[in-house]
Amino acid sequence: MNPVFPGSVDAAGRMATLGVMGGGQLGRMFVHAAQRLGYFTAVLDPDAQSPAGLVSHHHIQTAYNDSAGLAQLADLCQAVTTEFENVPAEALQTLAQTRPVSPGAAVVGIAQNRIEEKAHFAACADISGVSCAPYAVIETQAQLQAVLEAGDDLLPGILKTARMGYDGKGQVRVRTADELGPAWTELGSIACVLEKMLPLTAECSVLVARGWDGQVVSFAPQRNVHVDGILAVTHAYEGNIPPALADRARDAAVAIAQHLGYVGVLCVEFFVVDDGTEHGGLVVNEMAPRPHNSGHYTLDACDASQFDLQVHAMAGLPLPQPRQHSPAIMLNLLGDVWFDASGQQREPDWQAVLSLPGTHLHLYGKVQARTGRKMGHLTITGPDLAIVKTVARRAAELLGLPGLDAI
Ligand code: ATP
Ligand code: MG
Repeated sequence: MNPVFPGSVDAAGRMATLGVMGGGQLGRMFVHAAQRLGYFTAVLDPDAQSPAGLVSHHHIQTAYNDSAGLAQLADLCQAVTTEFENVPAEALQTLAQTRPVSPGAAVVGIAQNRIEEKAHFAACADISGVSCAPYAVIETQAQLQAVLEAGDDLLPGILKTARMGYDGKGQVRVRTADELGPAWTELGSIACVLEKMLPLTAECSVLVARGWDGQVVSFAPQRNVHVDGILAVTHAYEGNIPPALADRARDAAVAIAQHLGYVGVLCVEFFVVDDGTEHGGLVVNEMAPRPHNSGHYTLDACDASQFDLQVHAMAGLPLPQPRQHSPAIMLNLLGDVWFDASGQQREPDWQAVLSLPGTHLHLYGKVQARTGRKMGHLTITGPDLAIVKTVARRAAELLGLPGLDAI
């Protein structure tokens, strides 16, 4: 595609504008990155209070599949991206008729469906060098029966809905064969995958950016700690996982992006499993066709963030190979932080937290705090890892965050 240069003005006197489907926090940080470069921005999101809509030049407040809204977005923007993977693929197709859209509808469609996603991982296992956890597709009663008859190879396992899962939602743990039928009923007897439960020793993710011309850059893997199925802590520094594993994960993520012909920022999540070898084995879990919560540290610890790369990729600009200049730990701030033990609403002690060295607070502009709602994050950077860890522990303590023992 022809690059959309920042600050360029068309014949009608309109400033180069980039568009995003979805107005959540990822869209907001995308808007910030695009605006810093000099672009105007447009956000399509039905919510009047959406975090990205609040800070964008244009906010088109319609449903994602509203044809008038999509036409308006296409009219305003020279290129369009997405910030959440459940954007209707048809909406991206419609936009792509007149504008460069990255990532494209086809790859977003694959990432939206665990069955297709796993098929893709299997198809490129030879070049990526990693496979996914053993699994079976369950879309019909007959397939469920077949799994039961095949024996308990996949048990204990996790039954996951093929679509719309996030933050551990749409998942039921299945210990025995007896529990499988009821678990499928509980999930609404819709298309699912049953995945073998693996002995995880760690989880990590890799962010890759790929341009329209095939240029690829990537970040080193970050190690992620989840609490109750939601990301709690990200560790981003050398040695966060054994170097040989880090290299494999990074190469695998790049291979997966290339095999997809992906354009934009892709996050690939991996499990490190105890397979009896010295550092354990690597298994690919899932991918997100957008920047990811586990990459938020790149805003403060790298010279180009995942959102900068999203902007560069969609606009056809050269992709800088990002350089991490500081070790970092990211702490997710859920709505829980705004409530004390007795359920009373409270203001977190920002005075104390922000007086700690190397703390970078990012709040997403969500007015109402709710338990489990992603309200913001705090990244801690420092001159060395020992200091970063000490400050992160202190901040987590002050905020009453979970996962303290993992820091
Ligand atoms: P996300 O918020 O990343 O989109 P999700 O709801 O799509 O999450 P997964 O990433 O598939 O769900 O699973 C959530 C978490 O559950 C994982 O990060 C991991 O901790 C655990 N988990 C999932 N699958 C397995 C497995 N096969 N074996 C062991 N643990 C697992
Ligand atoms: Mg996940």
